[in-house]
Amino acid sequence: MKAIVFSEQGSAEVLQYTDIPKPTLDTNEVLVKVEACAVNYLDIHARRNRPEIEAKLRRGDTPHILGSDIAGTIAEIGGAVRGLAVGDRVVLAPCIPCDICSDCYRGAENLCDTQELIGFQINGGYAEYVKAPSQNAIQMPAALSFVNAAAMPIAYLTAWHMLMTRAQLRPEDDILILGVGGGVGSAGLQIAKLTGARVFATASSDEKLKRARQMGANVTINYKDTDFSEVVLDVTNGRGVDVVLEHVGAATWDQSIASLAKNGRLVSCGVTTGNIGTINIRKMYQKQLTVMGSALGTVRELRTLIDLAGQGKLEPIIDRILPLHRAGEAHLLLENRQNFGKICLCPNL
Ligand SMILES: [Zn+2]
Repeated sequence: MKAIVFSEQGSAEVLQYTDIPKPTLDTNEVLVKVEACAVNYLDIHARRNRPEIEAKLRRGDTPHILGSDIAGTIAEIGGAVRGLAVGDRVVLAPCIPCDICSDCYRGAENLCDTQELIGFQINGGYAEYVKAPSQNAIQMPAALSFVNAAAMPIAYLTAWHMLMTRAQLRPEDDILILGVGGGVGSAGLQIAKLTGARVFATASSDEKLKRARQMGANVTINYKDTDFSEVVLDVTNGRGVDVVLEHVGAATWDQSIASLAKNGRLVSCGVTTGNIGTINIRKMYQKQLTVMGSALGTVRELRTLIDLAGQGKLEPIIDRILPLHRAGEAHLLLENRQNFGKICLCPNL
């Protein structure tokens, strides 16, 4: 089969379009013919320098295949697989949990210490075929396209778990979403609008903020021009917002905390600008703030999201669709932040 592979980490030039053998199945696995695979920023970290990938390459399991967000049709099934058939249209849940630890047992498989991510610890969807455990294959509603389905798992699952499961966003809440032009930010905006909450959104360009307003953002703030917490406090008459969706880290931490209302909840899933932030403990307890972390989400949550997309209530933003062999170009677009929405690779284009 055709695949984009790499045997050593580095710039986008390490990605090679080549022929490799199709994966062979265990009895509980399915082989999926990839129709669309979305590109995530994590793919770029993996290609450049993530130690998990370096370790995998060093073990000699070369070459590596990226790609965690995958939709396609089932081409083969293992002998023990039930409830799925060849030809089924499926989207793959990106994480493979151990299924036996206490976290997995109580349905919090996104806390599993030994979970593996498709396209990260194991080979992914930058290929004509990918294999996965049958539990990871979620059947798609007829109304959902492969490209839209592939654009969803990591970004929407992350945003949904943050807003709905962790921060428990309510219709009467005001929410501030940082970096609304990114995958998690734009997914968070759509999910927040579904709940009815009022959305404040930040981005680095007026063009991205215009798109955010078209998607329903109520108040937009260009963070390059201004301290966004001052705008938030100004618009809310000094009250602040009930929820902040944080994924930027050190650079925005102080402003994010300052934007919170009494009883405010800050939920964080990322630290692109640094790991360390401080907090004024007195202000925290007096305002009864909650700071919480969030990491990806569960298969059950992904099923909900796929249903909502099938009903047309969520619609991923697609920047462009490229043939698989142009994966390097997709990485450069993402690295240079030239996209608004997802870039999807299609092997059959
Ligand atoms: Zn586990």
